[in-house]
Amino acid sequence: MSFVLPHIRNLPRYQTGKAPRPGESAVKLNQNENPYPPSPRVREALLSADPAELRLYPGESVEELRAALAAMHRTVPGQVFIGNGSSEVISLIMKVFVGAGGTVSLPDPTFGLYQTAAWAQGAEVCRVPLNSRYEVDVDRVVASGGQAAILVNPNAPTGLLLESGRVVELVSRFRGLVVIDEAYTDFAPAGSSAMELVEKRANLIVLRTFSKAYSLCGARVGYCVAAPELIAALNKGRDIYNVNALSARMALASLQDRDYLRETAARIIRTREMYTRRFEGAGFRVLPSSANFLLCRMPEEGGAQEALRLYEGLSDQGVYVRYFDYPRLRDKLRITVGTDGEMERLWQVLESLMQRV
Ligand SMILES: *Cc1c(COP(=O)(O)O)cnc(C)c1O
Repeated sequence: MSFVLPHIRNLPRYQTGKAPRPGESAVKLNQNENPYPPSPRVREALLSADPAELRLYPGESVEELRAALAAMHRTVPGQVFIGNGSSEVISLIMKVFVGAGGTVSLPDPTFGLYQTAAWAQGAEVCRVPLNSRYEVDVDRVVASGGQAAILVNPNAPTGLLLESGRVVELVSRFRGLVVIDEAYTDFAPAGSSAMELVEKRANLIVLRTFSKAYSLCGARVGYCVAAPELIAALNKGRDIYNVNALSARMALASLQDRDYLRETAARIIRTREMYTRRFEGAGFRVLPSSANFLLCRMPEEGGAQEALRLYEGLSDQGVYVRYFDYPRLRDKLRITVGTDGEMERLWQVLESLMQRV
């Protein structure tokens, strides 16, 4: 006999990228973390924080962050929900809008946490294959039904952006809730976000995070914008104090330095474009990325075996990239765009591995 409920017993643990050993100086390009530190204002916010404030449950700092986010997105605080990372918001969406026995429609492949979060709530997953060009197939998502459909845009791990016209079409035609995860939107061309659609569509949730472009993975802050009714439902489902006061201060400080964000994102984009050309020059097939990572298919016949060999060879030399043992991804590596220096190191190790065939 087990004390664990069957759907949790059968739930595979969500796999994160490999962590370097403590003290190891690795080049970590496996979790789409930002290679640049957060805005200097985050440091100031931390240094000026008063520990006496921690005596109290979080309140004011979270509300200040909510007000700032509402202002930035030209909406009202009642349309903003803040979570302990967008991962928490993803779990809550499954808990509040899908639930046990419900179905969520997921393009396949996409960010793996959606499936884990759905299963953890006893929900079913309806996988909708990406088309032959790895694009989200809007018609098939619409036809799939379900309580909710997820669109990660730009998608992970492909990096592909679904164009605005198709996004509008999905939101208007899908009968259930549409969740658009814009974790990587700051690396995509201007005008590709669905944020402005929220005012017009009662079935849309747009999800953002401070983890990627703001470089605050460790602070754990994410948020979503949606109709007041949906935000109220998420507030009922959450833990009472789900965002800590210091993290809220750090997120607010980084939000107030948009120039820094634009500058670091632009640097990452330049590096991304440079390495897209380099990889293509070496025979890799690279999907055109609108995010801070590249999905690279092995040259010529080098399939899954070659991808694994390079993954392991890189890893042995302290360069961590991501390998997914998953249909349509086994012959590819997903590489987070690091600093120029980190990418140069990756490139050197990769070249030496490829000459040793
Ligand atoms: C990294 C990522 C997130 C961010 O998760 P946090 O919990 O906010 O760190 C969300 N969605 C996608 C698609 C991601 O790749």
